[in-house]
Amino acid sequence: MERTAKIIDGKLVSQAVKDKVREDVLSLGEKGISVCLAVIIVGDNPASRTYVNNKKKACKAAGIISREYALDENTTQQELLELIDRLNKDSEVNGILCQLPLPQGLDEKAVIASISPEKDVDAFHAVNAGHIMIGDYSFLPCTPAGITEMLDYYGIEVASKNCTVIGRSNIVGKPMAMLLLKRNGTVTICHSATKNLADYTSRADILIAAVGKPNFVTADMVKDGAVVIDVGINRNSEGKLCGDVDFDAVSKKASYITPVPGGVGPMTIATLLKNTVTAAKLQNNL
Ligand code: NAD
Repeated sequence: MERTAKIIDGKLVSQAVKDKVREDVLSLGEKGISVCLAVIIVGDNPASRTYVNNKKKACKAAGIISREYALDENTTQQELLELIDRLNKDSEVNGILCQLPLPQGLDEKAVIASISPEKDVDAFHAVNAGHIMIGDYSFLPCTPAGITEMLDYYGIEVASKNCTVIGRSNIVGKPMAMLLLKRNGTVTICHSATKNLADYTSRADILIAAVGKPNFVTADMVKDGAVVIDVGINRNSEGKLCGDVDFDAVSKKASYITPVPGGVGPMTIATLLKNTVTAAKLQNNL
């Protein structure tokens, strides 16, 4: 039977998150507390510049102060670490974000490790990753947390469902799997070395694709009535933005699906704002 999946509207859900953030920022303001995010960008990667501009714009709309630190491509590791050290000690800065990827020659792992876990609003630091592992956390990585927010908004239950995550990156796949596990999903993680991928995807009640390849998930890989979440941000052969999922065909089989653009992407930024407010509250013992 052909169906048409319900669209999970990331713009709608992210607006609800941003409205709540704005309310929280206003009520902190009434207590004399301002909320500030420091954003570091190194070099002139155009995609990074777009992401940083979008984050700054979102901060402004939410009433969060954003401070940009745009560093030259030739910045040394030591200069970058010194800046992060200053921001860690700056009591006016609640959250610190260093836009990745960094130019060659800079050590991303060392940079992530140098951000104070209390200000690590991307939740990439090993301390925060460890908290996610044991299911006890203040900040969650923005993309997986945004996805759970969308599932909640649409009343999609995770408990006892077969959940398959394609991708095992530290920023999406692994933490996504942990969050689904915390909600009592039965979770399978697939990756580049998985054999017979379709065996796992076709069993999934909830399928999360975080691969980075256009049209990677085809309709034959998807169970009838599955919830399909497309994390991928790719360009197709015509240069148009697209996800990992063959949207037209899969939306005739799925019960719910996220579009690209307008699905997971807006949730990532909304969660970043939410994490920044959480950081400000924690730092003020609220
Ligand atoms: P990544 O490159 O770190 O990870 C990709 C994963 O895909 C890897 O774990 C790899 O094992 C898996 N993979 C590759 N080929 C595979 C195959 N043939 N079969 C099964 N698995 C395979 O990427 P990432 O940072 O996790 O991002 C994934 C995608 O999500 C990218 O397109 C990225 O741009 C996008 N992304 C979107 C958002 C958002 O806000 N929407 C946020 C982060 C990442």
